[in-house]
Amino acid sequence: MKNFKKEKTLVIIKPDGLQRSLAGEIIKRYERIGLKLVGLKMTVPNEEMIEKHYTLDPEWVRITGEKTIKGYKDKGMKPPTEDPLKITKILLKRLKKYMSSGPVIAMVWQGAHAVAIVRKITGGTEPLASDVGTIRGDFVLDSYEMSDVSERCIRNLVHASGSVKEAEDEIKHWFKEDELINYRLVQEQILYDVNLDGILE
Ligand code: GDP
Ligand code: MG
Repeated sequence: MKNFKKEKTLVIIKPDGLQRSLAGEIIKRYERIGLKLVGLKMTVPNEEMIEKHYTLDPEWVRITGEKTIKGYKDKGMKPPTEDPLKITKILLKRLKKYMSSGPVIAMVWQGAHAVAIVRKITGGTEPLASDVGTIRGDFVLDSYEMSDVSERCIRNLVHASGSVKEAEDEIKHWFKEDELINYRLVQEQILYDVNLDGILE
């Protein structure tokens, strides 16, 4: 049987999240839903670390390029190039500059459907379009239009793994095995156990 409790995902509070003094608010949102924090570190990543992070999946370059070109066209705008690889190259350069500009907090959150739950709480990539009630929808007002004009990366406060496979690769990239802690949270009995024995005295 699938061990739901064991699913893990990677979250990074990006430099703008820390500069906006939102670390506590962001952590609170993942914590209160019932996920368990099993790893945490504060670091200033270098550009190489960020390039590797975004290219762990070789398909990311093509997929993100195609997504970005479609985004321009959906808005009736002309993309700077029709080549997905070229678009992502520009994006990656901006991402490296943005993500290495200051301290970030990398975290591993564990629990049932950790990847999907964290994405839901985080919200869509572009803050202008992210749902109200999500981190990106509630705490930042950036847009692709505004970031493109300044030739910078969109500032959306957090990174969250997009799939279970992506999470596994990203966790290995940011954490050594012994930096993740195996422990039990008292609330797991309420979240996962079949019987709620032992509550009444
Ligand atoms: P995420 O998983 O929601 O963070 O989004 P992706 O993994 O698809 O993209 C990673 C990062 O690339 C985002 O946080 C953005 O900074 C940037 N990005 C992605 N798609 C676009 C786009 O269509 N336009 C622009 N300007 N940047 C994008
Ligand atoms: Mg992503």
